[in-house]
Order: sequence, then structure tokens, then C-alpha cells
Amino acid sequence: MESRTYLYEHYTWPKLAEVVPSQPVVVLPIGSVEDHGRHLPLDTDNFLIWSICTAAAERSPGEMLLLPLIPYGFEAHHMDFPGTIDIGAEHLLHFVLDVTKSVACHGFQRILIADGHGSNMPILDLVARRTILETDSLCAAFIWPSLALDEIRRVRESERGGMAHACELETSVYLHLDGQRVEMDQAKKELGMPKSDFIWMDLLQGSPALLMDHWSRFSKGGVSGDPTLASAEKGEIIFEAVVNAFVRLVREFKNRERGERTNHHQPEAT
Ligand SMILES: [Zn+2]
Repeated sequence: MESRTYLYEHYTWPKLAEVVPSQPVVVLPIGSVEDHGRHLPLDTDNFLIWSICTAAAERSPGEMLLLPLIPYGFEAHHMDFPGTIDIGAEHLLHFVLDVTKSVACHGFQRILIADGHGSNMPILDLVARRTILETDSLCAAFIWPSLALDEIRRVRESERGGMAHACELETSVYLHLDGQRVEMDQAKKELGMPKSDFIWMDLLQGSPALLMDHWSRFSKGGVSGDPTLASAEKGEIIFEAVVNAFVRLVREFKNRERGERTNHHQPEAT
């Protein structure tokens, strides 16, 4: 086995074609270039999701093929913060769908979209649905914290809203992966959204009603959550839990049965 055989683009086309019959799960990582408070780099979503994907791929040899990362996401609500790159929602939907349909065209039948940026999710959900409706493949999308909710809740100290963006969660994982790039002296707690029983933001629990405002209306530094509670130790526990769950998801999805469609418009044969 060559090293790093999980990287899709490292194959020649004849070698890639040889891999198709074994039906590895093709994973498409997507992140964003986006403000993450005064303490985290713009690459936070890209760096975290890519690190999670490569670790999972290394732990599931032969079961997963990793596509290159799509480094930009849907960010219109963050554009008051310098550095953020925004791809319009419809544009992003069509771009990601073109990627999944290309993968399906080559015969891969299990595609997972691994997301590092919350606001990509409604679009990626549609991409996954359309991939199923318009190809022979099954496709699912997830955002990484959702894979290990119980383990994250166990180490969490912040109140509701404390794990939303540039927060206890993301800062902890970044500290674990590359602490030198985190400016912890700049980390500030911000829970700026109006208090509500129905509208809040938290990666571990969505609110009953969905509302996404311009971020500069409720956040001074581009934080929603409490990064002051972050630690590398928490980050390691969270990272390991997410990667291990990801490996289980890939294994399960690879073997997921796909039923046959039935056209109920035709009278039943007697
Ligand atoms: Zn983020």
C-alpha cells in the first residue's frame, strides 16, 4: 500500500478506476475563510475539518477516499468583519452539487459531505438530497460537532450559547491541534444575541426558531460563545471523540443498504 492512499487526487485515473469496485466512502470536506474572534485565525473552519478528516482517514484504511477541501462557504452575514470570503448560497449549492455529481458519475455510490462551518449546513443538506435524487449514489452531510454530542456535553462548562462560534468548542480543538496559532490573551466571552426562549445559537442544540442576523449587530469581536473556557485538554477529548465517531459513520455508511424504488403508478402484475 502506498502511503496516504486515502487522498483522492493522488491517484492516477486508471488507479482511481480500480478503486471504484471496492466502494470506499468518498468524503468531501468543506469549511470557510471567516472571522473567528480576535484570538483565532481565519482558517479555523478549514483547519479543524481538514484535521478531523485526515485523522479519520488514517484510522479507516481502504474505507474512505478524501477529496480536496472546498475552502470557502456561505458567509454573507459575516461580511462586516475584514478577511471573510463569502460564496453566495445558490452559487455554493450548485458548486458543491457539481462536485458530488462528478463523484457519482465515476461510480462511487456513498458520498459524505464533512462540514466545518455552521451556515453551510442548510445548503449542504439540499446538496445531499439532490445528489440522491439526481444520481445513483447515496449522499449525507454533517457538521463535525454533531458526531459526538454526548462526549462534548461531558466536558462542556459553558451555558447555552457558549458553543456557537470561535467559542469554547472551536477554540479548544484549535488549542489541541496547534496552540501556537491561538492568541488566548485576545479571547473574550460574548453572548450578544438577545435572550430568548425560542431563538438562540449553539452548535450542540439548535433553537426552535431559526434566525441568522448580521453578526456585527450582536457581536463586537466575531465571537458567539465563551472561548475563555477553552483548553487543549478539552480539545483533545473532543477531537478524539469526533474522529472515532467519524470512523464508525464511514464504516456504517459504506455498508448501508440502498433499497429499490417502486413505481406505484403501474397497476400491480397479477
Ligand atoms: Zn468556525
